[in-house]
Amino acid sequence: MDLELKDKVAVITGGSVGIGLAVAEGLAREGVHLVLCARNEERVKARAQEIADQYGVKAVGIHADVANGDDIDRLVAAIGAEFSDGVDILINNAGTGSEETIMDASDERWQYYWDLHVMAAVRLSRGLVPLMRKRGGGAIINNASICATQPLYYEPIYNVTKAALVMFSKCLANELVGDNIRVNTINPGLVLTPDWMKTATLLTENEPITPEQYLDKIAKGNAPIGRFASPEEVAHFFVFMCSPRASYCVGSSYYVDGGWLKVIT
Ligand code: NDP
Repeated sequence: MDLELKDKVAVITGGSVGIGLAVAEGLAREGVHLVLCARNEERVKARAQEIADQYGVKAVGIHADVANGDDIDRLVAAIGAEFSDGVDILINNAGTGSEETIMDASDERWQYYWDLHVMAAVRLSRGLVPLMRKRGGGAIINNASICATQPLYYEPIYNVTKAALVMFSKCLANELVGDNIRVNTINPGLVLTPDWMKTATLLTENEPITPEQYLDKIAKGNAPIGRFASPEEVAHFFVFMCSPRASYCVGSSYYVDGGWLKVIT
C-alpha cells in the first residue's frame, strides 16, 4: 500500500527513544521529513542525524521541555523557521508514568503532569495548526495510554491526565475537521521501551528474578497476548493513522494493547 506520505513534514515530541523514535523511523522510511523534540539535546540531535543519514530525509533535532510553555514557543518558532512551507503531522508523544497516591501527591505534581500530558498538546496544536492550514490540512495524533480508560492503581495522576488528553483530542477533532485536519488518539498497552527496562532493573535489584522475568510476568498477568509490544509494532499503526489512507478516521481513540482492555468502548 502506498501510504502517500512522501515529502510530508512531521513533528514528533519525545522522538529520541522508545515509541516516538520508532514512529520517526517508520515515517522516515515513507519519505517523511522530521522534527524530533526532547529535553536531552545531544541525544535528540544524534537520533535526527542518524535518521537523515539512513533514510535521506531532512530530520532536525530540537531540544525542548514540552511541559514548559516558553520552550514550546521557542520550539514552534524554530519549526516555522526550518519548515516555512508548513507541517503536515503533529504527534504529541512525550510523556511518562507516575507513582503516587492521591492523598499524598502535591499540587505541584498534579500541575507538572497536566502540563506534560495535556497543556503540551494544547500549546503545540495552537502553535502548529496555522502551519498545517498552510498545507491544506494534516493529522494530529495524541499518544495517550490504555490507562486513560483502564487505570493502573499506582499512577492516578498518569491515568487522570491521559484521560484528559483523550477528551482534548475529541474536542480538537471537532474544531479542526473543517480545516481537513484529522485528530485522533492512540492508546498503547504494554510497549517494551527503555523506560520499562529501567523500571524492571530497579525493581528486581534485590529480588531473585531477572528484569526479563519480571517483565514477562507483567505481560502474562495483564495482556492476553502474553507479551509486550515492540515500539515498532505500535509505530506501524501510528504511521498508518498519519497517512491520507486513514482519511475517514476522525476524533477516535484506537487501542493497540494485545487485548488488555477488558471492556468494549
Ligand atoms: P520513553 O521514556 O521511552 O521516551 C520518552 C521520550 O519523551 C523521550 O524521547 C524523552 O526524551 C521525551 N520526553 C520525556 N519528557 C519530555 C519533556 N518534558 N519534554 C520533551 N520531551 C520529553 O517513553 P515511551 O516511548 O515508553 O512512551 C512514549 C509515550 O507513550 C508516553 O506518552 C507514554 O505515556 C505513552 N505510553 C507508553 C507505554 C509503554 O508501555 N511504553 C504504554 C502506553 C502509553 P528526553 O528524556 O530527552 O526528554
